[in-house]
Order: sequence, then C-alpha cells, then structure tokens
Amino acid sequence: MTRRQKLRYAIANQKGGVGKTTTAINLAASIAQAGERVLLIDMDSQANASHGLGVRVSPGQPSVFEVLLGETSLASVARGCSVPNLEVIPSSPDMAGASVMLPFLERREFRLRDALAREQEFAARFRFVFIDCPPSLGLLTVNSLVAAERVIIPVQGEYYALEGLAQLMSTISAIQERLNPALRIAGLVLTMMNARTSLGRQVEQEIRTHFPDLTYRTVVPRNVRLAEAPSHGVPVSMLDPTCSGSDAYFDLALEVIANG
Ligand code: ATP
Ligand code: MG
Repeated sequence: MTRRQKLRYAIANQKGGVGKTTTAINLAASIAQAGERVLLIDMDSQANASHGLGVRVSPGQPSVFEVLLGETSLASVARGCSVPNLEVIPSSPDMAGASVMLPFLERREFRLRDALAREQEFAARFRFVFIDCPPSLGLLTVNSLVAAERVIIPVQGEYYALEGLAQLMSTISAIQERLNPALRIAGLVLTMMNARTSLGRQVEQEIRTHFPDLTYRTVVPRNVRLAEAPSHGVPVSMLDPTCSGSDAYFDLALEVIANG
C-alpha cells in the first residue's frame, strides 16, 4: 500500500453509546491537524458528529439525507468547521426519515457510494474520509459499509464489551461477500477504558485474545474532557491539547495513518 492511498473508513458498532462519534470527531480532527485533508460524513440522525464540530443544519436546509435521496450534491452540503483541513457532510433530524425512504430507492445499499463516485473531483480533495454510523445495522450503516474500504469498531471497555460483536462481524462478512469485496476491518479500538480497575484490564485482555491482530495498541481512557468538548463544538485537542483523551486520539491517528 502506498502512503498516498486514499481510504474511506466507516466507524461502526450497532451497540449504542460505545464511542463511535467521539472516535469519528477526534480521529478526523487529529489527522486534519497533522496536515491531511479530511472529510467526516455524519450518517446518524442524532447529528452528534455535526453538532460536536459546531455544524448545524437549519430547518429546510439540505443535509446528507438529501444527498442520499439524490436531490443535492455532497459538495453543496459540505461545511468547514473549527478545525482547518476538516470538512463535514452534516446530518439533521430529517435523517430519521431515511429509514422509511431508503428501502424504496433504487440501489438502496449504494446511495452513499454512488454519490461519492458521481463527485470524483470533490472526493479526490480528501486523503481520509470517516463515516460516523448510527447505532443500528440498518440501511444507513449498510450504506456506510458499502461506501468504505475500512471499518473501525469502537468497543467500550466494560463488562458487556463483546456483546453484539459476533452479529457485527457477520454483517461485515455478508457485505464483503455480496456488496463490497474491498471492505476490511482496520481495527477495534477500546474506548472509555478504566485501565486502573481489574475489570478494565480483564476486558482489554479478553478483546485482545479474541481479536489479536485486529485490536489497536492505543486504548482510549475515560476522560471527562472528551465528553465536554462537543458542547463547545470542537474536538478535544482544541479544548485541552494535553489531556489524556487528546493524547489517545493523536496516538490512534498515528496508528491509523501507519496501518491504512
Ligand atoms: P450512539 O450509538 O448514540 O451514536 P456513540 O457510539 O456515537 O453513541 P459517543 O456519542 O461517542 O458514542 O459516546 C457516548 C457518550 O460517552 C457521549 O456522551 C460521549 O461524550 C461520552 N464519551 C465517549 N468516549 C468517552 C471517553 N473516552 N471518556 C469519557 N466520555 C466519553
Ligand atoms: Mg454516535
């Protein structure tokens, strides 16, 4: 793999609240701050990734939803944010309608990939694309996994960490077989870890035993600054560049850049 290869990463886990959006925002921001051009696509109707970077779509304005419907272009909804080199394709609460509309559209699993393919000039501007998925395995996550070459799986470092992972892995395999043979798991990342507790160490051990070659070395600790940053509309590195959360996402960015 050449260093200049452009890759698209879906950040997925159907389990809710495991750190998908926190990882999407802070990984995208860390790589953008290192000087690469990055695009973050928000595929969740909660719009947490958009809001966490200070990007809000007013009522009536188009978002990623209209892009999926084929009514507008990615380039026309892309917005800059507080981080230089980072652009956002925002979501909005209208996306809640996507689960109703998408099943009736042609090439319903390929809507995001087709939009990126239609706009090659726009897509070519970004070395990295991250796609923040909603907490489900529905069509929005399927569209994200079909549009991506890699998937990053955040896993919360707690007792039920492995719950649901088997179903996620079999969904990824089914998509590889039927819709996107290029898809690979880039890695699992342990989030919200409390490494000082024996439960934390036990969960980390268990994940590393189950997925020895697939777990990133970097572990994201539980860090209150990571939870506070979204309310300021900035990544953690701009709120507190020296906190443990900021360090962890910078280290994870280095691993992602190095491993492809
Ligand atoms: P959803 O499934 O609803 O989309 P998610 O998987 O995107 O959730 P996040 O929104 O990233 O998860 O995180 C869930 C909550 O935990 C948020 O309030 C977030 O600020 C907080 N959080 C995430 N990572 C950390 C961390 N390492 N330390 C402390 N708080 C964290
Ligand atoms: Mg989220």
